[in-house]
Amino acid sequence: MTLKHVNNLWDDAVAAKLDPVARLVYRSNCLGSDQRITNTGGGNTSSKISEKDPLTGQEVEVLWVKGSGGDLRTSKRENFSSLYQQKLIDLQSLYAGRSDKGLKAPAEDDMVGMYTHATFNLNPRASSIDTPLHSFLPGKHVDHMHPNAIISIAASKNCAALTKEIFGGEMDYVPWMRPGFELGLAMQEISRKNPGVKAIMMGQHGFISWDDDDKTCYLETLRFIETAAEFIEKKYAAKGGDAAAFGGAKYQSLAPEKRAEIFAAILPWLRGQVSQQKRFIGTVQDDEKILRFVNSRDAARLSELGTSCPDHFLRTKIKPLFVDWNPQAEDFAALKKKIADGLVAYRKDYAAYYEKCKHANSPAMRDPNPTVVLIPGLGMVAWGKDKSESRVTAEFYNCAVEVMRGAEAIDEYIALPQQEAFDIEYWLLEEAKLKRMPAEKELARQTVVVIGAGSGIGKEAAHRLSKEGANIVSVDLNLAAAEATAKEITDRLGQGIGVAGSGISGCGPAIGLAANITDRASIRAMLDQVALAYGGFDSICVTAGTFVPSDTTGHIPDDKWAITFSINVTGSYLVGDEAAKTWREQGLRGNLVLTTSANAVVAKKGSLAYDTSKAAANHLVRELAIELAPLVRVNGVAPATVVQGSAMFPRDRVVGSLAKYNIPYTDDETTGSLVGKLAQFYADRTLTKAPITPADQAEAYFLWITNRLGKTTGQILTVDGGLHEAFLR
Ligand SMILES: [Zn+2]
Repeated sequence: MTLKHVNNLWDDAVAAKLDPVARLVYRSNCLGSDQRITNTGGGNTSSKISEKDPLTGQEVEVLWVKGSGGDLRTSKRENFSSLYQQKLIDLQSLYAGRSDKGLKAPAEDDMVGMYTHATFNLNPRASSIDTPLHSFLPGKHVDHMHPNAIISIAASKNCAALTKEIFGGEMDYVPWMRPGFELGLAMQEISRKNPGVKAIMMGQHGFISWDDDDKTCYLETLRFIETAAEFIEKKYAAKGGDAAAFGGAKYQSLAPEKRAEIFAAILPWLRGQVSQQKRFIGTVQDDEKILRFVNSRDAARLSELGTSCPDHFLRTKIKPLFVDWNPQAEDFAALKKKIADGLVAYRKDYAAYYEKCKHANSPAMRDPNPTVVLIPGLGMVAWGKDKSESRVTAEFYNCAVEVMRGAEAIDEYIALPQQEAFDIEYWLLEEAKLKRMPAEKELARQTVVVIGAGSGIGKEAAHRLSKEGANIVSVDLNLAAAEATAKEITDRLGQGIGVAGSGISGCGPAIGLAANITDRASIRAMLDQVALAYGGFDSICVTAGTFVPSDTTGHIPDDKWAITFSINVTGSYLVGDEAAKTWREQGLRGNLVLTTSANAVVAKKGSLAYDTSKAAANHLVRELAIELAPLVRVNGVAPATVVQGSAMFPRDRVVGSLAKYNIPYTDDETTGSLVGKLAQFYADRTLTKAPITPADQAEAYFLWITNRLGKTTGQILTVDGGLHEAFLR
């Protein structure tokens, strides 16, 4: 069959070179790389492979199945668990002997702990909750996917009848069951009763299919999805297509520039509202598909029903917050008021859902704030603990919209019953998984703007802070330099998972932006981009500065004096003053770190403008600490003469300094050699006698940005190797 709704990525030449486990990885990557086949982190694959048992030397059948966590698109061999197939089958008699067995009963959860006992060859990967599905079905190769087209059928009121109508006898049906041992047994029963069945529709969840040949298994998975999509699209078109989707449009989208303007204005405030327990990072989606949904007549009703696939609602929560704002008739103030009222109602609803559905042993109620906010005319905002996770949240609601579109085209969309959703969300096994997660990094959930990050201390500080979990906004007058630092960070950390986010909001853990700190409008434009990218920011480090050398007579021309002050003093002030508006909107604690200098307190010949500007910067730290208290702590770092990697030490300045201090050099020496001489000269003047590096400075910015010195504001931390003449007193 020709495929229009999925892509066949299988390449025989590639597969032929691979061993059986590598073929499974290959198949998984092919499936995972098409979002229409499965969502990020969703679904799993398996192969039953004959291997030599290290204990006996005998051939034994091993189930390789995608393990817990991870993602099919990026999975490697180490993401798969390997288990003795026979031992898994033997678990059935152990389970049968339990008196407390049954769906969601203790015996079922206990079986999960037994999988570890069936581990083949000490493979440390924890096995998935879906392991019995793969083990108990007869095919040598099994694919369990969450395709939007199939979930549309799975989330339709008449799922069973539709499955029969669309797939005939090839695909059987099992109603919603929480994944686990019982679901595996139910699937085994279906395949035994009807050996002609090749796949099973899983009510409100997805589907599973199998074959004894891996390529056929892959192609069959594609064929089932294609068949479902074709059926849906035909009905969708017959009902009027996009124009009639979700009952037709109730509102119109605002123009892209207007959307960006409103998002930039509302996001930091909204971030503050949803981050009262823990901070979140935002992702904006305002493409045509999501706008069609939020603008529609049915959006309020459908979004209230909640999402269906369990994979989806673990991230999106049982339902989004739909803000019933009229983009054509109401203003910004009305939008803010409606979101605020909506949040209050949402939290109340969430608490009521928890109270209604909780069991005696349920974990405590989790954060009651929505992770998805839908606004007519504007689009969607999704929240997650980091940028990657927030993109996953957005991706999953995109999936949910596609599922509702399909289900409403062919039938009527129904969500999972609340109690079932609760029993997934608050499943003790899910709670145990959350508890097993490694502790979050010190600057996790934070976004830090580093101004001057294109080189020197700023670049080093950006790297240092990113290693502690902060998103980095690398800002520089030179856009290419800013972007280069952001790229280095993203290359090192990876883009993460989650395929979503419009424009700059689709970014990873770092972005590069240009800004001129002597221009308030330029700073505002940059901060607005930060809001669109991450939903807001927590702290700012200003490392940008300038040193304009005096002319050969030792005199500073008036224009150079003015430039020095406009960058080193006025620039820092404008950043702090403009950012303060956003900080107040957001209402979350943050830090502003300015860069002053050891020169601020030591009068010297030849650096009159610079030294005076840095003395003013020292006092600016103190003044802003008062202005921005209690929300923002303002502190300074006072470096002394970091020559290495500094944009403020071009060759002519180095030469000038060498001449000033009577250090011998020749005109044909390399810049590196000249820099080394000057750095050592400076080092010899200090108490610690070692050159000061950008890394030494970066540590000071890190200290101010964390909460380690959380009770200190209005202070300057010197990193000068020990210059007694620069001691503050
Ligand atoms: Zn699933």
